Amino acid sequence: MKKISIYSLSSVIKTFGGTTIKRKCWKCNSNLLFFYFCAKNITYNINKVDVEKDVEKAKKIWNNPHIQVLCCNCFDVHNKS
Ligand SMILES: [Zn+2]
Repeated sequence: MKKISIYSLSSVIKTFGGTTIKRKCWKCNSNLLFFYFCAKNITYNINKVDVEKDVEKAKKIWNNPHIQVLCCNCFDVHNKS
């Protein structure tokens, strides 16, 4: 299976138009970037079609104000505990 690089991920996000909605981490209140949110949520051992689906999924979560999102730091801490 082909690994997707960070570059391909950013080009996939570009294709999808990303999102203009700004989110903050619900724990530490720091500003989040959609790109890093995708990078955290997407498995890299997948093909391009799956990445597109995952970006689409990530976008739905991101655009839903009822779903709490975490920054990379809080995400890691959260997963360790
Ligand atoms: Zn945080």
